[in-house]
Amino acid sequence: MSGTAGRPAVLVLNTGSSSIKAGVFEAGKGDRPILSALAERLGTAEAHCSLRDPDGSKLDAPQPPEDSKFTDTKFTHEAMLAWLIPLLRQRSGVELVAAGHRIVHGGAHYSRAVAIDDSVVAALNQLIPMARTHQPYGLAAVEAVRKRWPELPQVACFDTAFHATISHLNRMVALSRPIIDKGVRRYGFHGLSYAWIASHLPDILGARAKGRVIVAHLGNGASLCGLIGCESRATSMGFSTLEGLMMGERPGTLDPGIVLFLLEELGMNLEEVRHLLFKESGLKGVSGLSNDMRTLLASESPFAKEAVALYIHRAVREIGAVAAEIGGLDALIFTAGIGEHAAPIRAGIVEGCSWLGAELDPAANAADATLISPPGAKVTAYVIPTNEEAVIARETRAALDLNP
Ligand code: ADP
Repeated sequence: MSGTAGRPAVLVLNTGSSSIKAGVFEAGKGDRPILSALAERLGTAEAHCSLRDPDGSKLDAPQPPEDSKFTDTKFTHEAMLAWLIPLLRQRSGVELVAAGHRIVHGGAHYSRAVAIDDSVVAALNQLIPMARTHQPYGLAAVEAVRKRWPELPQVACFDTAFHATISHLNRMVALSRPIIDKGVRRYGFHGLSYAWIASHLPDILGARAKGRVIVAHLGNGASLCGLIGCESRATSMGFSTLEGLMMGERPGTLDPGIVLFLLEELGMNLEEVRHLLFKESGLKGVSGLSNDMRTLLASESPFAKEAVALYIHRAVREIGAVAAEIGGLDALIFTAGIGEHAAPIRAGIVEGCSWLGAELDPAANAADATLISPPGAKVTAYVIPTNEEAVIARETRAALDLNP
């Protein structure tokens, strides 16, 4: 099915709205990819792609040809996938036996990864209205693989699935019964990232892993997960990817009265409001400068400083809410781009959580160490890098029984 024989491997595709993270993993086991790729700034003329070996060293990668296949000067997801998928197989010399995908929404039905067939594709397409800005990209990747290798088994790994264990009340929304009965509820996202962190908590936290832990996934999108005994009990993101923390381009929790005001009084139409909420708010909106935390931390602009201060304030507020839901806090974990690399943000959040007993070791924090609290802290803070692609590989193997 994949051409020349090589060692059996799983292709992993984590397809976002402007990027594709891809990896080729051994079919049997292992969290380190044989080869990985990162394609960024898709949909713009600056789209590019880099390849890395298992140690994370950059490899020479041919760039997508600027010919007609790539629709004018814009490298679409489709064009990038059509170019990247065969390239990964050729460069790694493997025989692909499966492909695993990040699919943002699994709805109420899928609480674990599932082998993809026509009925699964149909069900996942039906969830597009619940996650218009994310769901189509993962499904497009499924289609791209299917086009190239129709017989290759594929698996959908869901961002929602890890939150199947949230409490009944965390899941509920306080709308009217007829709306609740239509299935309007909270789901939670970033579950692949939380699954990775949860699998490492016993090694890193020891006995505290059994306790009350909040993981802050602070990437471009951001959310919190409150865990007890390594299982999700509460999360800050709800029905859509808009709720909870302030994010790169999304506002986080917002009075719905504001949305009505935008529509009724400011005369904005539905598409304009959607664009504002998903693309023009959060760090980007408040700073008027950028959604990139590095840019904001380096900026002297008062609006950039205000955006950073609000980001921290909102995070502290939401951590308080999730801590209340899980009955207190033993450990606070930072992960994803900002969580792993932005020491001033971690410092602000840990200081803001001092009322819960969180303490910071400034030197350890500045060094991005794993443990960033002093010995004896009531609430210990940690930095744990996430690895969604490795979780997709694990879940794909498990769904297809590929493990030796
Ligand atoms: P995505 O949700 O797109 O996967 P990432 O997890 O890569 O996002 O996180 C992107 C965010 O991480 C951006 O705001 C970026 O500025 C921030 N980031 C990455 N590296 C650093 C750094 N060294 N210092 C501060 N912020 C960083």
